[in-house]
Amino acid sequence: MRVVVVGAGIGGLTAALSLGVAGVDVVVVEAVREPRPLGVGINLQPHAVRELTELGLGDALRELAIPTAEVVHVDRHGNRIWSQPRGLALGYRWPQYSIHRGELQMLLLDTVRARLGPCAVRLGAQFEGVEQQRGGVTVGVTDRSTGSARTLAGDVLVGADGLHSAVRALYHPEQAPLHYAGIRMWRGVCETEPFLTGHSMVIVDSNAAPGS
Ligand SMILES: Cc1cc2nc3c(=O)[nH]c(=O)nc-3n(C[C@H](O)[C@H](O)[C@H](O)COP(=O)(O)OP(=O)(O)OC[C@H]3O[C@@H](n4cnc5c(N)ncnc54)[C@H](O)[C@@H]3O)c2cc1C
Repeated sequence: MRVVVVGAGIGGLTAALSLGVAGVDVVVVEAVREPRPLGVGINLQPHAVRELTELGLGDALRELAIPTAEVVHVDRHGNRIWSQPRGLALGYRWPQYSIHRGELQMLLLDTVRARLGPCAVRLGAQFEGVEQQRGGVTVGVTDRSTGSARTLAGDVLVGADGLHSAVRALYHPEQAPLHYAGIRMWRGVCETEPFLTGHSMVIVDSNAAPGS
Protein backbone atom coordinates (compact mmCIF):
# COMPACT_ATOMS: atom_id res chain seq x y z
CA MET A 1 0.00 0.00 0.00
CA ARG A 2 1.40 3.37 -1.02
CA VAL A 3 -0.35 6.64 -0.23
CA VAL A 4 0.36 9.94 -1.97
CA VAL A 5 -0.51 12.91 0.25
CA VAL A 6 -0.89 16.33 -1.38
CA GLY A 7 0.19 19.16 0.95
CA ALA A 8 2.83 19.27 3.69
CA GLY A 9 0.70 21.44 5.96
CA ILE A 10 -0.39 20.41 9.41
CA GLY A 11 -3.03 17.97 8.12
CA GLY A 12 -0.87 16.32 5.45
CA LEU A 13 2.18 15.84 7.67
CA THR A 14 0.11 14.46 10.55
CA ALA A 15 -1.60 12.06 8.13
CA ALA A 16 1.84 10.94 6.89
CA LEU A 17 3.02 10.23 10.45
CA SER A 18 -0.15 8.26 11.24
CA LEU A 19 0.16 6.25 8.01
CA GLY A 20 3.82 5.59 8.83
CA VAL A 21 2.86 4.18 12.24
CA ALA A 22 0.37 1.89 10.45
CA GLY A 23 3.22 0.60 8.27
CA VAL A 24 1.97 2.26 5.10
CA ASP A 25 4.46 3.58 2.53
CA VAL A 26 3.75 7.30 2.13
CA VAL A 27 5.03 10.18 0.03
CA VAL A 28 4.00 13.81 0.54
CA VAL A 29 4.09 16.29 -2.36
CA GLU A 30 4.33 19.96 -1.40
CA ALA A 31 4.17 22.90 -3.80
CA VAL A 32 6.39 25.15 -1.68
CA ARG A 33 10.09 24.76 -2.44
CA GLU A 34 11.47 25.85 0.93
CA PRO A 35 8.99 25.59 3.80
CA ARG A 36 9.50 28.31 6.36
CA PRO A 37 7.88 28.62 9.79
CA LEU A 38 5.04 30.90 8.61
CA GLY A 39 1.93 31.85 10.50
CA VAL A 40 1.18 33.03 13.99
CA GLY A 41 -0.74 31.36 16.79
CA ILE A 42 -3.11 28.43 16.46
CA ASN A 43 -4.91 26.47 19.11
CA LEU A 44 -4.61 22.72 19.37
CA GLN A 45 -7.68 21.32 21.09
CA PRO A 46 -7.27 18.36 23.51
CA HIS A 47 -8.43 15.78 20.94
CA ALA A 48 -5.71 16.95 18.53
CA VAL A 49 -3.10 16.95 21.32
CA ARG A 50 -4.14 13.39 22.10
CA GLU A 51 -3.44 12.30 18.52
CA LEU A 52 -0.08 14.08 18.42
CA THR A 53 0.85 12.63 21.82
CA GLU A 54 0.03 9.12 20.55
CA LEU A 55 2.38 9.89 17.65
CA GLY A 56 5.15 10.47 20.22
CA LEU A 57 5.20 14.28 20.01
CA GLY A 58 4.01 15.00 23.56
CA ASP A 59 7.39 16.13 24.94
CA ALA A 60 8.19 18.26 21.89
CA LEU A 61 4.80 19.98 22.12
CA ARG A 62 5.30 20.68 25.82
CA GLU A 63 8.58 22.44 24.95
CA LEU A 64 7.13 24.53 22.11
CA ALA A 65 3.63 25.39 23.26
CA ILE A 66 1.76 27.18 26.02
CA PRO A 67 -0.85 25.04 27.78
CA THR A 68 -3.96 27.21 27.48
CA ALA A 69 -5.66 27.55 30.88
CA GLU A 70 -8.63 29.74 29.93
CA VAL A 71 -10.30 31.59 27.10
CA VAL A 72 -11.48 35.10 27.98
CA HIS A 73 -13.77 37.35 25.97
CA VAL A 74 -13.31 41.04 26.73
CA ASP A 75 -14.77 44.23 25.31
CA ARG A 76 -12.56 46.84 23.69
CA HIS A 77 -11.79 48.40 27.08
CA GLY A 78 -10.54 45.09 28.47
CA ASN A 79 -13.62 44.38 30.62
CA ARG A 80 -14.20 40.66 31.04
CA ILE A 81 -17.50 39.57 29.44
CA TRP A 82 -17.17 35.81 29.70
CA SER A 83 -14.48 33.25 30.38
CA GLN A 84 -14.11 29.50 30.55
CA PRO A 85 -11.30 27.14 31.63
CA ARG A 86 -9.60 25.19 28.87
CA GLY A 87 -7.76 21.90 28.45
CA LEU A 88 -6.56 20.27 31.70
CA ALA A 89 -8.26 23.04 33.70
CA LEU A 90 -11.58 21.97 32.14
CA GLY A 91 -11.02 18.33 33.08
CA TYR A 92 -9.62 16.96 29.83
CA ARG A 93 -6.90 14.32 30.03
CA TRP A 94 -4.87 16.21 27.42
CA PRO A 95 -3.98 19.90 27.47
CA GLN A 96 -5.11 22.51 24.97
CA TYR A 97 -2.08 24.21 23.48
CA SER A 98 -1.48 27.64 22.03
CA ILE A 99 1.37 27.19 19.59
CA HIS A 100 3.11 28.98 16.73
CA ARG A 101 1.70 27.50 13.53
CA GLY A 102 5.04 27.57 11.71
CA GLU A 103 6.93 25.94 14.57
CA LEU A 104 4.35 23.16 14.73
CA GLN A 105 4.63 22.62 10.98
CA MET A 106 8.45 22.47 11.17
CA LEU A 107 8.25 19.98 14.06
CA LEU A 108 5.96 17.76 11.98
CA LEU A 109 8.15 18.13 8.88
CA ASP A 110 11.35 17.23 10.78
CA THR A 111 9.60 14.25 12.38
CA VAL A 112 8.29 12.96 9.05
CA ARG A 113 11.77 13.19 7.53
CA ALA A 114 13.43 11.55 10.55
CA ARG A 115 10.95 8.66 10.67
CA LEU A 116 9.97 8.12 7.03
CA GLY A 117 13.21 9.17 5.35
CA PRO A 118 14.54 12.34 3.70
CA CYS A 119 12.65 11.62 0.45
CA ALA A 120 9.26 11.16 2.11
CA VAL A 121 8.43 14.84 1.45
CA ARG A 122 8.93 16.05 -2.14
CA LEU A 123 9.26 19.82 -2.05
CA GLY A 124 8.52 22.12 -4.99
CA ALA A 125 6.13 19.48 -6.36
CA GLN A 126 2.82 21.05 -7.28
CA PHE A 127 -0.16 18.74 -7.66
CA GLU A 128 -1.76 19.13 -11.09
CA GLY A 129 -4.11 16.18 -11.47
CA VAL A 130 -4.77 12.52 -10.88
CA GLU A 131 -5.87 9.58 -12.95
CA GLN A 132 -7.67 6.81 -11.20
CA GLN A 133 -7.21 3.32 -12.56
CA ARG A 134 -8.30 -0.06 -11.31
CA GLY A 135 -6.33 -0.56 -8.13
CA GLY A 136 -4.42 2.70 -8.04
CA VAL A 137 -3.80 6.32 -8.88
CA THR A 138 -1.29 8.16 -11.05
CA VAL A 139 -0.62 11.59 -9.63
CA GLY A 140 0.64 14.38 -11.88
CA VAL A 141 2.93 17.04 -10.38
CA THR A 142 4.96 19.92 -11.76
CA ASP A 143 8.51 20.26 -10.51
CA ARG A 144 8.57 23.99 -9.75
CA SER A 145 12.37 24.23 -10.04
CA THR A 146 12.49 22.97 -13.62
CA GLY A 147 8.88 23.35 -14.79
CA SER A 148 8.88 19.70 -15.85
CA ALA A 149 5.94 17.36 -15.40
CA ARG A 150 6.26 14.17 -13.35
CA THR A 151 4.01 11.35 -12.27
CA LEU A 152 3.87 9.37 -9.05
CA ALA A 153 2.14 6.04 -8.69
CA GLY A 154 0.18 5.11 -5.60
CA ASP A 155 -2.77 3.15 -4.35
CA VAL A 156 -4.53 6.04 -2.65
CA LEU A 157 -4.48 9.84 -2.94
CA VAL A 158 -5.07 12.05 0.11
CA GLY A 159 -5.86 15.70 -0.56
CA ALA A 160 -4.50 17.84 2.31
CA ASP A 161 -3.80 20.93 0.23
CA GLY A 162 -5.55 23.48 2.35
CA LEU A 163 -8.29 26.03 1.88
CA HIS A 164 -8.01 26.37 -1.91
CA SER A 165 -7.58 22.64 -2.44
CA ALA A 166 -6.89 21.63 -6.04
CA VAL A 167 -7.75 18.02 -5.14
CA ARG A 168 -11.17 19.02 -3.84
CA ALA A 169 -11.81 21.20 -6.92
CA LEU A 170 -11.02 18.23 -9.15
CA TYR A 171 -13.41 15.87 -7.40
CA HIS A 172 -16.13 18.41 -6.68
CA PRO A 173 -16.13 20.81 -9.66
CA GLU A 174 -19.78 21.63 -8.98
CA GLN A 175 -18.89 23.29 -5.66
CA ALA A 176 -19.12 27.08 -5.68
CA PRO A 177 -15.96 29.03 -4.80
CA LEU A 178 -15.42 29.95 -1.17
CA HIS A 179 -18.01 32.44 0.03
CA TYR A 180 -16.76 35.61 1.74
CA ALA A 181 -18.74 35.87 4.98
CA GLY A 182 -18.11 39.59 5.42
CA ILE A 183 -15.70 39.23 8.34
CA ARG A 184 -12.12 40.39 7.99
CA MET A 185 -9.58 39.53 10.67
CA TRP A 186 -6.50 41.68 11.22
CA ARG A 187 -3.60 40.01 12.96
CA GLY A 188 -0.57 41.49 14.68
CA VAL A 189 2.18 40.17 16.92
CA CYS A 190 4.10 41.80 19.74
CA GLU A 191 6.23 40.65 22.64
CA THR A 192 4.94 41.61 26.06
CA GLU A 193 4.83 40.53 29.69
CA PRO A 194 2.55 37.58 30.54
CA PHE A 195 -1.01 38.74 31.31
CA LEU A 196 -3.92 37.31 33.36
CA THR A 197 -2.93 33.70 34.18
CA GLY A 198 0.04 33.80 31.81
CA HIS A 199 -1.75 31.01 29.97
CA SER A 200 -4.86 32.94 28.89
CA MET A 201 -6.25 33.21 25.39
CA VAL A 202 -8.06 36.51 25.00
CA ILE A 203 -10.64 37.40 22.35
CA VAL A 204 -11.30 41.12 22.10
CA ASP A 205 -14.71 42.03 20.70
CA SER A 206 -14.53 45.54 19.30
CA ASN A 207 -18.34 45.89 19.25
CA ALA A 208 -19.41 44.32 22.50
CA ALA A 209 -19.91 46.21 25.73
CA PRO A 210 -20.61 44.45 29.08
CA GLY A 211 -24.31 43.73 29.40
CA SER A 212 -25.01 44.30 25.71
C1 LIG B 1 1.52 29.90 5.35
C2 LIG B 1 0.33 29.63 6.25
C3 LIG B 1 0.19 30.34 7.44
C4 LIG B 1 -0.91 30.10 8.28
N1 LIG B 1 -0.99 30.79 9.45
C5 LIG B 1 -2.00 30.54 10.30
C6 LIG B 1 -2.07 31.18 11.59
O1 LIG B 1 -1.23 31.99 11.94
N2 LIG B 1 -3.11 30.89 12.42
C7 LIG B 1 -4.09 29.99 12.08
O2 LIG B 1 -5.01 29.75 12.87
N3 LIG B 1 -4.03 29.36 10.87
C8 LIG B 1 -3.03 29.61 9.99
N4 LIG B 1 -2.97 28.97 8.79
C9 LIG B 1 -4.03 28.03 8.47
C10 LIG B 1 -3.84 26.73 9.18
O3 LIG B 1 -2.51 26.29 9.13
C11 LIG B 1 -4.68 25.70 8.44
O4 LIG B 1 -5.98 26.19 8.27
C12 LIG B 1 -4.80 24.45 9.24
O5 LIG B 1 -3.59 24.10 9.77
C13 LIG B 1 -5.31 23.37 8.31
O6 LIG B 1 -4.20 22.60 7.88
P1 LIG B 1 -4.14 21.96 6.48
O7 LIG B 1 -3.06 20.94 6.55
O8 LIG B 1 -5.51 21.50 6.06
O9 LIG B 1 -3.76 23.11 5.48
P2 LIG B 1 -2.49 24.06 5.42
O10 LIG B 1 -1.78 24.12 6.72
O11 LIG B 1 -2.98 25.30 4.78
O12 LIG B 1 -1.51 23.28 4.40
C14 LIG B 1 -1.80 23.04 3.04
C15 LIG B 1 -0.50 22.76 2.32
O13 LIG B 1 -0.78 22.34 0.99
C16 LIG B 1 0.11 22.96 0.10
N5 LIG B 1 -0.51 23.03 -1.22
C17 LIG B 1 -1.54 23.81 -1.64
N6 LIG B 1 -1.84 23.56 -2.93
C18 LIG B 1 -0.97 22.59 -3.34
C19 LIG B 1 -0.77 21.91 -4.59
N7 LIG B 1 -1.52 22.16 -5.67
N8 LIG B 1 0.21 20.96 -4.67
C20 LIG B 1 1.00 20.68 -3.57
N9 LIG B 1 0.85 21.31 -2.38
C21 LIG B 1 -0.12 22.24 -2.26
C22 LIG B 1 0.35 24.35 0.72
O14 LIG B 1 1.55 24.92 0.25
C23 LIG B 1 0.39 24.01 2.21
O15 LIG B 1 1.69 23.69 2.65
C24 LIG B 1 -1.90 29.15 7.91
C25 LIG B 1 -1.76 28.43 6.71
C26 LIG B 1 -0.66 28.65 5.88
C27 LIG B 1 -0.52 27.84 4.58
